[in-house]
Amino acid sequence: MLLNATRYEPVIGLEVHAELRTQSKMFCSCAVVDSVSAPPNTAVCPVCAGMPGTLPVVNQMAVEYGLRVALALECTVNPVSVFARKNYFYPDLPKGYQISQYEQPLAEHGKIVIETAAGEKVIRVRRVHLEEDTGKLTHVDSGDGGEPDCTDGGEPRSYSLLDLNRAGVPLLEIVSEPDMRSVEEARAYAEALRDILRALEVNSGDMEKGVIRFEANISVRPAGTDVFNTRVEIKNLNSFRALERAIAFEIERQTRLLEAGERVEQETLGWDEANETTYSQRSKEDAHDYRYFPEPDLPPLWVEEAWLERIRANLPELPRARRRRFIEQYGLTDYDARLLTGEKALADYFERALQGKSKINPKMLANWMTGELFGLMNQANITVASLRVSPEALAELVGLVASGEINPSTGKTVLAEMFQSGKGAAEIVAARGLKQVSDETFIADIVRQVLQENPKEVASFKAGKQTVANWLFGQVMRKAGGKANPAVVRAELERQLGE
Ligand code: ADP
Ligand code: ZN
Ligand code: MG
Repeated sequence: MLLNATRYEPVIGLEVHAELRTQSKMFCSCAVVDSVSAPPNTAVCPVCAGMPGTLPVVNQMAVEYGLRVALALECTVNPVSVFARKNYFYPDLPKGYQISQYEQPLAEHGKIVIETAAGEKVIRVRRVHLEEDTGKLTHVDSGDGGEPDCTDGGEPRSYSLLDLNRAGVPLLEIVSEPDMRSVEEARAYAEALRDILRALEVNSGDMEKGVIRFEANISVRPAGTDVFNTRVEIKNLNSFRALERAIAFEIERQTRLLEAGERVEQETLGWDEANETTYSQRSKEDAHDYRYFPEPDLPPLWVEEAWLERIRANLPELPRARRRRFIEQYGLTDYDARLLTGEKALADYFERALQGKSKINPKMLANWMTGELFGLMNQANITVASLRVSPEALAELVGLVASGEINPSTGKTVLAEMFQSGKGAAEIVAARGLKQVSDETFIADIVRQVLQENPKEVASFKAGKQTVANWLFGQVMRKAGGKANPAVVRAELERQLGE
């Protein structure tokens, strides 16, 4: 029997397109509008509609956003970069070319540190450059399979709708070196980059709205070698899930080809979400020749050192640094720190709660957030932005539990009400008389009553069935309306059962 003993490993490089959420577009003063809610073609002018004779003007804020990213990724920023025309014809590109940067990009040679189960790894960033987005095409097919036909006087059977709101929106392209070796690493890179873009407040990170799109380059080689085999490129992956599935599919397909002694063809692929397969869009033979040349309507872009320093000085703390600080400064677990720093607004919320008047334990606060609060938020499907519980109010609640004013289970009830009504914790406790009762005579009385009412259970406890104590504890708590101090109840129960 012949066995092919060679093991294969994937080589993956990612190209990421991120829309920059500036007020206006890259080369004109049209507003950048929400791609989902804005009516089509309401943010368009002669410049972004590609009318002849119009001239582009660079959006300074878009450059600044690009530089923020470049600096956060520790890139070398080129003092001079050059805009170039990338020529191709497509209906969503009215000018017939896209303004991009080619030979002299905004910045180069950066890195992103990713974390996987195997630990940390540095993925090198090859380049970061500015360009403009295209319009959006929606293909409508009435489904009778016929040729497009408008001659019969009725509705055309299939046609495309064009929305130019997105045409000219600033795009930042971030290209990695082919440093990733697994689906997991590719996902970790994509997520780390999304988190960084969000922390820098240059992109909303709303993947469903298509504000971040991935292209994956994949080849496969014998494990442990350093050859770079022929790669394919999968276009337009719009979610982490699509990214993962498409890469996994390609690795398997290419590995099978190599095992069968066949070659991988260089091509551009699309991803069929419904069938979870890749399909060929273009082979090497019909690869585009973009005939790049420097954009004659724009001067080279000079980035002054002083501007760069100002941007650098104002960079926020990045997600990875913040996570580490949360672990060290607040003694959080890696898991909690990750949950809390995944979104800048959440991390801010946590730290604001800690700054409150009531001195509370950070670990306890983290537990209340990741447990109860996240649970309520998930159920209601809302984000921090629309949360009615302020950080100060949550701190107050946690403070009440910590000091024993209310017991933890009452705390949950109170938080649920705070979540609904937006009222303060102390206010709810006072209004509903939920204050914890620690009074020993009161508790001793209730314990005595419960023991008298349940002689059978008491007997079985005395016969050695320890677990009955928990049941009795529950009865006491219930009789006390959930307000009794659990520690006092437990001690008193133990004492009376021991008599
Ligand atoms: P283009 O797509 O414009 O041809 P490049 O040749 O610079 O651009 O490569 C684009 C991407 O392909 C980069 O992210 C790079 O890391 C990745 N890449 C290059 N060679 C390989 C390879 N052999 N296998 C997988 N990815 C690769
Ligand atoms: Zn415009
Ligand atoms: Mg490419």
